[in-house]
Amino acid sequence: LFVTFEGGDGVGKTTQAAALEQWLSGQGRRVVRTREPGGTEVGQRIRDIVLHHRGHIDPRAEALLYAADRAHHIATVVRPALVRGDVVIQDRYLDSSVAYQGAGRVLDPQQVRDLSLWATDGLLPDVTVLLDLDEASARRRLDADDKPYDRLEAEQAEFHTRVRAAFLALAGAEPDRFLVVDASLPVDQIAARVRDRVSARLG
Ligand code: C5P
Ligand code: MG
Repeated sequence: LFVTFEGGDGVGKTTQAAALEQWLSGQGRRVVRTREPGGTEVGQRIRDIVLHHRGHIDPRAEALLYAADRAHHIATVVRPALVRGDVVIQDRYLDSSVAYQGAGRVLDPQQVRDLSLWATDGLLPDVTVLLDLDEASARRRLDADDKPYDRLEAEQAEFHTRVRAAFLALAGAEPDRFLVVDASLPVDQIAARVRDRVSARLG
């Protein structure tokens, strides 16, 4: 089973991915928890490039760098784990590219999606949790955490508003794959909803 967490910066994806991992491991499941960008050694180098030069990379070049990270990560980490029968829990995947490189950087969202599907030989998640939060609340959380790369100040509020709308549109187009959760809910309530959806899929 392939589970991805999506949403803007500061919505709590990492916290929820960790909670799900802990729960599944407690049930005796084999779990691989990973992330993009940067889920491999090669990907870590790509992550450094895209984040250090954020806002100064040609949008198509940026999209290709994310796609390169994804291709290597899926081929070397995620597919082998899925073949073994492990549950893969991943922080960000192709929906982030459609939202950030597509709606954010204003590239054609369908082309960005197609690029990602080419990069991964068509791998789609079984479950995608979209943690939805308004821009002002996300900004407050990031300020409180003082995260170096994740700061919304690095980009305009308007950019993040476009990204959020794009995520919601993606979820609306694929209701079977997506679970949309209000990220302002308490952490344990969000975790419970995620567990319900994942255990339904695990059968
Ligand atoms: O989620 P994480 O903190 O790893 O993401 C790092 C940064 O990369 C985030 O600020 C996110 O906005 C950005 N990002 C992006 N396009 C992607 C994935 C992440 O712009 N496809
Ligand atoms: Mg995170």
